[in-house]
Amino acid sequence: MATASWTQRLAARAAERRAQGLWRQRRTLASRAPRLDFAGNDYLGLAGDPRLAEAMARGARRFGAGGRASHLVCGHRDVHEALEGRLAELTGRPRALLFSTGYMANLGTLQALCEPDTRLFQDRLNHASLLDGATLSGAPSRRFHHGDLGDLERLLARAPAAAPKLVVSDGVFSMDGDVADIPGLAAAARRHDAWLMIDDAHGLGVLGERGDGCVGRAHGVEEVPVLVGTLGKALGTAGAFVAGNHELVDHLIQFARPYVYTTAQPPSVAAATLAALDILAAEPERRARLASLIARFRTEAAGLGLPLTESHTPIQPLVLGESPRVMAWAARLDARGIDVGAIREPTVPRGQARLRITLSAAHADDDLERLLAGLADCQAAEASAAAEATP
Ligand SMILES: *Cc1c(COP(=O)(O)O)cnc(C)c1O
Repeated sequence: MATASWTQRLAARAAERRAQGLWRQRRTLASRAPRLDFAGNDYLGLAGDPRLAEAMARGARRFGAGGRASHLVCGHRDVHEALEGRLAELTGRPRALLFSTGYMANLGTLQALCEPDTRLFQDRLNHASLLDGATLSGAPSRRFHHGDLGDLERLLARAPAAAPKLVVSDGVFSMDGDVADIPGLAAAARRHDAWLMIDDAHGLGVLGERGDGCVGRAHGVEEVPVLVGTLGKALGTAGAFVAGNHELVDHLIQFARPYVYTTAQPPSVAAATLAALDILAAEPERRARLASLIARFRTEAAGLGLPLTESHTPIQPLVLGESPRVMAWAARLDARGIDVGAIREPTVPRGQARLRITLSAAHADDDLERLLAGLADCQAAEASAAAEATP
């Protein structure tokens, strides 16, 4: 009985989701399917680099396949320690702490830093893991209008003066591609004696003088005391880290439950990330190539009259409005072997459904041409449908 009513409940939720046109589906990709990827986050083309695969294989032969235990039990290896040192050095922080995923880094950091009297202030468009971290932390959380420093200051001023305050923002916004005003956020935080936490998942490896992200060495630990970076995007591997001062890292090791109660990342993955950091330092031309692809895409897409946003990062959304329109464009591109992100609510607000197009240093000029031709074809299909509909 109970089992049947559970199943009915789930079936009703599924039916509701389908009726809203919001049903999400995974597509299983064959390992060598000849498709063009404009949907992933492999901005520097490192995920498929044979040097990373080789470092991972060597790591696996040396350490075995698994992490064996949590970091605090006996899972913390010299390769993890070396990677933390390199990430601290890259971002210009005294220390860094490795997490198994960015989602867990954000949950763990917010949960560990917050007590019931803490007040959180989040940009409205922050990543889901930051919003979920606020819920897990149990601290009261307010959301300010996207990028609106005045709104943030108003909320900060209203909070109890004695409350410890934490301002939290994405560095590069994952669905919009715009970059947070780091100096502005830091100044607002300083005026209200708050700490600033930036999640630079999409900036690390891509932005900054050395690929150190939108915070990195340009904005030190005084300005941005809590810096989160992820390794599964531009660095091409998996995992994440939190960088800051010794007190922050020691506190996370003691109190961040998603750090304490999980198995250490397989050491082979850390070995691959070390190889990725070597390439990041040795091949700045990857960032230059990416920047030129972004500029070219924007010029040509503007020429086609496509609805570009203000983004100058590899995340180039085309905001099309309603979900069915986005699904139709994505399907047309799919038929041409081109993958783009089709992003709908609840990931973005209703009426702002979009194609999330991402560029990578691994794209050839021809790949970009094929994408632009596909987008032009979507426009043409819409125009002819509209002409047919008009008597
Ligand atoms: C992808 C992403 C995360 C999650 O990182 P994972 O390592 O994939 O769990 C966190 N924050 C932002 C802004 C992201 O884009």
